Amino acid sequence: MKLFEAALSHCHKAAELINLNDDYLAILSEPQNEIIVNFPVRMDDGVLKVFTGYRIQHNNILGPYKGGLRFHPAVDLDEVKALAAWMTFKSALVGIPFGGAKGGVTINPADYSSEEMRRIVRRFTHALSYNIGPDHDIPAPDVGTNSQTMDWIMDTYANTNAPSARQSVKGIVTGKSVECGGSKSREAATGQGVLYNLRHWCGQHGVALDTLSIGIQGMGNVGGHFARLAYDEGCKIIIAGDHHGTIKNLNGLPIPELLEWIKKHGSIEGFAEAGIANTENAKTELVEDEALFTTPMDVFVPAALENQITIERAKKMHCRLIIEAANGPTTPEADRYFNDQGVEIIPDILANSGGVIVSYFEWLQNRSAHYWSNDDIQEKLRDLLWSAYDEVLLSRNRLKCTNREAAYAVALERLREVYDRRGIFP
Ligand code: GLU
Repeated sequence: MKLFEAALSHCHKAAELINLNDDYLAILSEPQNEIIVNFPVRMDDGVLKVFTGYRIQHNNILGPYKGGLRFHPAVDLDEVKALAAWMTFKSALVGIPFGGAKGGVTINPADYSSEEMRRIVRRFTHALSYNIGPDHDIPAPDVGTNSQTMDWIMDTYANTNAPSARQSVKGIVTGKSVECGGSKSREAATGQGVLYNLRHWCGQHGVALDTLSIGIQGMGNVGGHFARLAYDEGCKIIIAGDHHGTIKNLNGLPIPELLEWIKKHGSIEGFAEAGIANTENAKTELVEDEALFTTPMDVFVPAALENQITIERAKKMHCRLIIEAANGPTTPEADRYFNDQGVEIIPDILANSGGVIVSYFEWLQNRSAHYWSNDDIQEKLRDLLWSAYDEVLLSRNRLKCTNREAAYAVALERLREVYDRRGIFP
């Protein structure tokens, strides 16, 4: 099944539950705009390369298009369409005034020098420039992009617009460095949001956070920040994997040392062998990647790419809860299986919404040129997330469905309300 189809299958199920009319469902079943750009960039060795980039604008009935840019070799039209649709539902669910979009370039950033990346980002921004804008479509970081990418996009956009607009264009992207107008707490926001979801789940089930054993797939921005925050709360991260390997320590991985290692070496590779990883009773060992799915644990946190939890893997897993820090990590088949088995899932559009929520705060701060404290941001992030979580629970009880269907139902009800009032143009 194509990813965009899989993304829509949840939406269609929820649409049935709330009797959404067919016209709205038809609109939401296709992106509004699909932009593909092919742009040339000169490499350091003088060779010219043509890159393909995408920006998919799925829906903007609730506000400007919003969503990240992904730089990864697997980026293609189908993936970006699915990721854009998820953004529409995510923003609608948490009640922020944005629509959904996503973009990307089919590229492995590790293959290029920093100067080459700067030229690629600038030329991509230029190619998209008529289709993005602080009140129209606002990109952000995703897999393979970061605050440096956003700073370059903002600078390129500022330099190619009228001088009078230059200060107000900071809101063209979110996820910038704090120095360039980014928000405090944005970098850790997605991981922080995952932890707030976990805390709320613990409260709801009467479970103490520091008794939990956790496995994490993906130790990039989201997985890494979540690991640090969960470790600080006393959770045991017993297994963690990235694209270079998986390590396990049933007494709990030494997360501060591991994150330090990843920062220095770029991945988990070599950490277990280096022997710094000893805790009192057990050593950290290098294990097969599949151990992520076969090791019993309380909570599994997929924080990598889509379609990682297939039905074959789901059948081997022993956990109570899955929190989808990544977008679309569970295939629809595996999702049904977990539902039958009583394994609870906090779905992606709720679990990882901390990123876009703090992006919204960044955009507001850029508009007012008034910057907020960490405490203010944390409090507002937690309030928004917990009220979205509570709405999902109410909707689940009302509609007698899964968390995921309930989350889509809340999002669709918000979209329906606005379509009902505005009508469909002309
Ligand atoms: N890429 C992130 C996501 O998938 C953040 C998007 C944003 O902040 O606009 O939610």
